[in-house]
This record gives sequence, C-alpha cells and structure tokens, in this order.
Amino acid sequence: MSQLTDLIDGRTRLYGLFAHPAEHSLSPLMHNLSFQRRQINAVYLAFDLTSDFSGAIQSIRELNMGGVNLSMPFKKQVIPYLDELTPTAKIVGAVNTVIHRQGRLIGANTDGTGFFENLRAHHYVIKNKTVTILGAGGAGLSIIAAGASEGLRMIHVFKRHNATFPKVEARLRDLARFYQTPIRLYAYDDRTNLQRAVRASDFLINTTHIGMGNDRQSMPLTGEEMKLLLPTTVVCDVIYEPRKTRLLLAAEASGCETVNGLGMLIYQGAQSFKLWTHEEMPVDAVRAAIEKESENKNGGIGS
Ligand code: NAP
Repeated sequence: MSQLTDLIDGRTRLYGLFAHPAEHSLSPLMHNLSFQRRQINAVYLAFDLTSDFSGAIQSIRELNMGGVNLSMPFKKQVIPYLDELTPTAKIVGAVNTVIHRQGRLIGANTDGTGFFENLRAHHYVIKNKTVTILGAGGAGLSIIAAGASEGLRMIHVFKRHNATFPKVEARLRDLARFYQTPIRLYAYDDRTNLQRAVRASDFLINTTHIGMGNDRQSMPLTGEEMKLLLPTTVVCDVIYEPRKTRLLLAAEASGCETVNGLGMLIYQGAQSFKLWTHEEMPVDAVRAAIEKESENKNGGIGS
C-alpha cells in the first residue's frame, strides 16, 4: 500500500477535527487509513481550537476543505454557522459532522446512527425493541433520535432532574412526534421506574460519563439494580476507554451480552466518511489499527 505522503499533491483535499482537546483523537488514524485504503486523495488532521471558532469554520470554505468532525465543546456551538442541518441534527441540537458542498456547510449527527450501525454489525435486531437510556446529553439524544427513527417500540430515558430537564423534555416530545415513537423521560433518581424499565428492556445503554476518567470505579446502576437485568438484555456503554467499564463487567457477571463504545466510535466515523466521500470505511482494518495503537500506548487493551 502507498504511503500517505505519496498521495499528497496539489489536489489533496483537507478534512479535519475541530475540538478542544484534540490530540488524543482516534479520528485522524481512522480517516487517513480509510483515505489510503480507498485511494482517495485527502488527508485528515486534528485541530485543537482554543480561540476564534468562527474563523475556523470560515476556513472550511476558504481552504475548500471537504468537511470536518466536531467534538467537545463545539457540537452545539457550530449550529449558527451552518447553512443547513439534517432533520436529526436539528432535533438533537448537535452536529458532529460538517459536509462542505459547493460553498454550503451542511451539519449532520452520526453518533446515534453509528451506535445502531454497530449493533447491526453485531447482528442485533433493533426494530420493535424496548431500550433504557441513561443520560440525555449530546450522545444520549443522538442515540434516542436514531433509535426512534429505527422503529424502536419504546424508549425509557433517565436524566438528572436539573436545569436542563425541561429543555430535554421538550426535545424528546419533538422527537417522539417526528418519529412517531413513544419516549418516556424520568428523573434519574426515580429508582422505581428505573428498575421497572431495566427489567423490561432489550437494551440498556449508558450514555453518562459514569465509568470513565476519574469515575472508573463508579457504575450508573447499583449492584442490586444490576441483579434485575434479564440475561437476554444487551448492556451497552458508549464509553470506550476503558473498553470494559464496571457496568459492562457487572453485566457480564450477570450473564448479559455487552457492547462497548468503540464500535460506535468507528461507525460514527464510517458514516461521516460516507457522507464526505460516498465510499465505505474499511471498518475491520480501522478497528485493527485502533487496537494496535491502543496496545502500543497502554501495553494492552482495556488498560
Ligand atoms: P454530555 O453532553 O455532557 O452528556 C452527559 C450526560 O451524562 C448528561 O445527560 C448528564 O446529565 C449525564 N451525567 C453525567 N454525569 C452524571 C452523573 N454523575 N449521574 C447521572 N448522570 C450524569 O456528554 P456527551 O457528549 O453526551 O458524552 C457522554 C459520554 O459519551 C462520554 O463518556 C463520551 O466520551 C461518550 N461518547 C462516546 C462516543 C463514541 O463514539 N463512543 C461519542 C460521543 C460521546 P445531565 O443532563 O443531568 O447533566
């Protein structure tokens, strides 16, 4: 296979990530490998933006970039700068992919669709299933929107009863109406309904930060609540570092199948790649490269 530098010439198209921080992103690895495999004359760079976000967005047009991904803290902030939003991005109120088409900037959100694409890749059936979703931030709302569009039977959502609760409630009402799917929102500390929902769900999905970073020892459900899980419930975590959160380890101990956030990460990237290039990302090669990188960095997967 040719080296990246062999492909760069006067026609090379630039893609990138706008985020802060950006240096640990796996997106450059995923997209550059995919450009190489698909023989597409393009490169993808991570930009750590600390000032002048509007100038950065303007540069997509100025530099004739093919598009960008957005991560924290820009997924909402980007919206006023865009010419158009996909229906999902509009309802969710967050964009992770910008497509540059002849001077127009189109915002899409592939987090939720990537999540379900990964479940499909694991051969899970989604239609008519009941899910419980913990958390309703950017990732959570995107998964709720994609799940509603996939024909889930019922979506139970648990979120802390704080200042953002009414806003999320209104968004979920819009989503339920748009996709004609029942969505129920409860306060996170409504443990009676949480336990009822967990017991009735085919999929339990953690979209909170609980279990990552300094919170690795925490779980979004108590040990007693974990015992309510049916062995047929698939337990998912959008977190991919660590690969197995305490939630997933406890679910496995209860006999449940589990899915971590790495597949979601790869498939949200695959969908951005397709929107930009109309080509399929070589997902198996990308997964292997990420695992190798992770092994090199950490001395082993899951550490
Ligand atoms: P976000 O917008 O900040 O939302 C976080 C959600 O978690 C909010 O609903 C928040 O509750 C809830 N939460 C946080 N701490 C909590 C706690 N102690 N108890 C109960 N709820 C809590 O963040 P995000 O962008 O959605 O990201 C969430 C997670 O998804 C992160 O771990 C991120 O790394 C991961 N993620 C993964 C992928 C992937 O491709 N695998 C993609 C995107 C995000 P409130 O609403 O009450 O504040």
